[in-house]
Amino acid sequence: MVRVGRAVVLLALFTCGVSIFAWSALADEPYAPSRDYDLQDIRTHLSFDVEHRAVKGEVTESIAALRDGVASLTLDSIELKIESVSVDGKAARFSTTPKSLIISLDRPAGRGERHELLIRYSGEPKRGLYFVLPSQSEPGQPAEVWTQGEAEDTRYYIPLYDYPNDRTTSEMILTVPAKWITVSNGTLVSVKDDTDGTKTWDWKETGPLSTYLLSAVAGDFVERDDSWRGITLRFAVPRGEESKIEPTFAHTKEMLDLFSNVLGVPYPWQQYAQTAVDDFVAGGMENTSATTLSVRDLIHPQLAAESRVGDDVVISHEMAHQWFGDLVTCKDWANLWLNEGFATFFEHFWVEKHYGVDEADYAYWLDQRRWLAQRRLFSVPLETRDFDDSTKYDGNVYGKAGWIIRMLRERLGDENFFRGLHQYLVANAGQNVVAADLQKAIEQATSINVDRFFDEWVYGAGAPQFHVDYTYDSATKSVGLDVTQIQKPEDHAGLFDVPMEIEVATASGARTYPIEISKATQSFEFPVDAPPLMVVFDKGDKILKSVEFRKDPALLVYQLAHGETTPDRADAAFALSAVKDNPAALAALGDAAQHDPFWGVRVEAIRSLGRLATAEAEGPIEMAANDSKPWVREVAVRTLGNFKQDPSLGPRLTNIASSDSAYRVRAAALVALGEMKAPNAFDVLAAAVNSDSPDGILRDGALDAFGPLDDPRAVPILTEWSALGKPVSSRQDAIGALGELDKKNSAITQTLLSYLHDPHFDVRTASILALGGRGDASAIGPLQAMRDSGDSTMPEAPYLNTALRLLKAQPTTTK
Ligand SMILES: [Zn+2]
Repeated sequence: MVRVGRAVVLLALFTCGVSIFAWSALADEPYAPSRDYDLQDIRTHLSFDVEHRAVKGEVTESIAALRDGVASLTLDSIELKIESVSVDGKAARFSTTPKSLIISLDRPAGRGERHELLIRYSGEPKRGLYFVLPSQSEPGQPAEVWTQGEAEDTRYYIPLYDYPNDRTTSEMILTVPAKWITVSNGTLVSVKDDTDGTKTWDWKETGPLSTYLLSAVAGDFVERDDSWRGITLRFAVPRGEESKIEPTFAHTKEMLDLFSNVLGVPYPWQQYAQTAVDDFVAGGMENTSATTLSVRDLIHPQLAAESRVGDDVVISHEMAHQWFGDLVTCKDWANLWLNEGFATFFEHFWVEKHYGVDEADYAYWLDQRRWLAQRRLFSVPLETRDFDDSTKYDGNVYGKAGWIIRMLRERLGDENFFRGLHQYLVANAGQNVVAADLQKAIEQATSINVDRFFDEWVYGAGAPQFHVDYTYDSATKSVGLDVTQIQKPEDHAGLFDVPMEIEVATASGARTYPIEISKATQSFEFPVDAPPLMVVFDKGDKILKSVEFRKDPALLVYQLAHGETTPDRADAAFALSAVKDNPAALAALGDAAQHDPFWGVRVEAIRSLGRLATAEAEGPIEMAANDSKPWVREVAVRTLGNFKQDPSLGPRLTNIASSDSAYRVRAAALVALGEMKAPNAFDVLAAAVNSDSPDGILRDGALDAFGPLDDPRAVPILTEWSALGKPVSSRQDAIGALGELDKKNSAITQTLLSYLHDPHFDVRTASILALGGRGDASAIGPLQAMRDSGDSTMPEAPYLNTALRLLKAQPTTTK
């Protein structure tokens, strides 16, 4: 799964790395339950009362008792109205609790005894199954019904055993209005016309899956099909979005080739469907053979050329899950990193193979920075049962786990690494796994013992924190390096045993020395022919770590200009932002911002110049605003918004906002105008709101910019664009900006409160976060009421908790 990108960014902004969520109800289980029975096949027939957002279901489940004396069967079932239950064709007694359906057997079953359950039920699911429907305000909204099972939500629309430590074959039968299409797991067996204006679609998945990976998508979608090695590829999007299919999914076949070939395990399912839905409560979800994606990430054909990697990150992530997560599934949520770490690793692997190794190195460099910024993750091991529903999906199981798999690859070398993964997949195909299964498979396949590596990185917490000092001894002509591991035992982080390379350069050239660090304190000495010009600790940034290493700025300047790898130059660019009043540092950053061969280093140099924010830093950024890559120009233009003191920038940015060849750069110029509060900004932004652009990218940029501009004249514009009926992305930006305006204006707070029950998930979360940041205590009551409405497991709950925590922590601004 990928979490909703935009919302995660917002949450991260608000939370500053502090643990924030206090869940009271129905946290997902860290331990897999002991099972009384094995769910072997599930055949679900769903039909929908669309108008009432209700589902009617009939599910047939084949089970086998796993022990003697099983007198009743407990199924997970939340708020479903159970109408009848039969066992082997005979009516059966049953009872329900708020979380389960308990079916009594006539007589206790013996181990291995099989039964067939038939359950008829109905419900109006609050989770698990979602309706997105047209309305009077939104007549053009395509009707959609879709499911999201992870983590434990399938039980909101099917009564069943619903935890990853079981697998079942499945059939999904969907009766829907005749003009709809459906997508589900496996193979489409048949589509039948019914007599009442509906059609019934029958999908069958013969590969066993864990029930959080069941999927049903139905609605007014448009589908394009293709095939790859005899497997059906489906691409489905809401009607009206057809032109985005090609630019969004263009690399699907190449990714399938790459992953199948490198793993030596062909894509394991009979189809690969990718369906984008509106208002998806996740960023993407790897349902077996039928990934669900969000329309947020579809690529507009007119924006494809200025999009760096399109939607490849999410698409490769969910595709990698088809092996890691679906073919081989974590046994419990404590081992979720085995799903998400590999999905993250293969995002970067695709980027490395398709876009180049610098791109992948930079992606890891950014992941490392993000992980290090979340201090609370440091004391939590990768494999942990100490989580709640929101921390379960935090940065350890994504960024850190991806890093750990990268380091494993580095230790083993490509051949052994992929041989180990092959063994892991083959030995555990169709089964549920824990970390030890990966450990064992690697040793079986390569005879390389990785126990210590797993102890340090998987079962232990944190990462090495190094303090490094260097000295140059002119008498012995040597560079001395003193290295201390300063991570603390109270963070559950022990000493790490890490190999790395040290690079030392003098005027005659650079040399690289391999070292191994395993003790609390170690000293190293390297011969040199002259004073060092550069000393790089962990060349190429191959180890996840933090480093305190105070270097002479001259060494950083040299490293930025001459470092061989992208991470080493990016490190230098970042470190130089802390070097004040140093013309050489400024010149080096200015040079890198314009001329570094890799765009990511140019971006880091621009950002560092932006942090310096001196008058001398502005010129090089203005030059960088002419970069050939739109995503570099975008950062440069955005960063110019820091230079509020320069009156000439307003006209310059106004010009960029109307004339740059890339829409994303034009949108960035609008935001920069708002941030620097340029005198003409209001008029430029108001005009941009009414302009035409693909996906409304300029309008959304302008709406967003009204926030920092903080001009009360924007209130009616933002109110208009936040209203139901406008595009959801514009509404989100308008709501975010409204929250920042005129914080004493209670009418704005009331407008934001009115969106708490909006039909769109993205709008609800935008208004919750806007209210949280606004500081108006009058919002506490309604937010609390929403959280306590009995739906505390709803997808909005983490956002509500964040907003409430912020509001309660702040001094009130209005009553
Ligand atoms: Zn994922």
